[in-house]
Amino acid sequence: MNIDFNKDNGLVPVVIQDSRTLQVLMLGYMNEEAFEKTKAEGVVTFFSRSKNRLWTKGEESGNFLSVKSIDIDCDQDTILIKAVPKNVVCHTGSFSCFGEKNAKGFLYELEEKISQRIDTKAEDSYTYSLYQRGINKMAQKVGEEAVELVIEAKDNNDDLFKNEAADLLYHFLILLKAKGFSMEEIEEILQSRNK
Ligand code: AMP
Ligand code: ZN
Ligand code: ZN
Ligand code: ZN
Repeated sequence: MNIDFNKDNGLVPVVIQDSRTLQVLMLGYMNEEAFEKTKAEGVVTFFSRSKNRLWTKGEESGNFLSVKSIDIDCDQDTILIKAVPKNVVCHTGSFSCFGEKNAKGFLYELEEKISQRIDTKAEDSYTYSLYQRGINKMAQKVGEEAVELVIEAKDNNDDLFKNEAADLLYHFLILLKAKGFSMEEIEEILQSRNK
C-alpha cells in the first residue's frame, strides 16, 4: 500500500468503520509508524495530535479496535479501516464518536456487557455468579427459561410471555459467551442458510 505520508506533517486521516454494520465509529490520524504498527498488530494505533505520541486506541480503557480490513482512498491520502470495536469507542461512553447508538442494536450491547462482566470477574454480578457455576448450570438455565417460555406460549398472558422470551435471550447470551462463541458467528450460520 502506497500511502502519501508527506502531506500534513506526515499525518493521514483514518476513518474507523464497524466492519459488521459499516457504522462510522471515529476518526483519527496515523503517521507511517502508527500505520506499520497497526498492520503488524492487527489493533488500531493512531498518532495522537494531543498526546503527541503513538496512541493505541484502548490502551487505558481496554476498548481496542481489531482490524478487519484496510483500504486507501483514490489519491492515497486517507485510510479507511474496518474494525470490530471492543465495547464502546468514544471516551464519553458513546458507542460511536458520532452518536450514541450501536447500529447493531441493543442485543449486541448486552452481549458485550455480559462479556465484560465475565472477563472482569465482576463480583456483584448475577451474570458472573452464574458463569462461575459452570457450563452445565448455564445450559440448565437456558433449558428452564425455554420451558417457561413454552408454558407461557400456551397461556394468554402477553407480559409473562415477553418476559420469559427476554430471560431466554439473556441466558442464551451467557451460554454462548461461556462456550466461547459470539452472536456474529451464529448470525453467519443463519445467513448462510438464507440463500
Ligand atoms: P483509550 O485509548 O480508549 O484507552 O482512551 C485513552 C484516552 O484517549 C482517553 O482518556 C481519551 O482522552 C482519548 N480517547 C479515547 N477514545 C477516544 C476517541 N474515540 N476519540 C478521541 N479521543 C479518545
Ligand atoms: Zn484523498
Ligand atoms: Zn469520541
Ligand atoms: Zn424466566
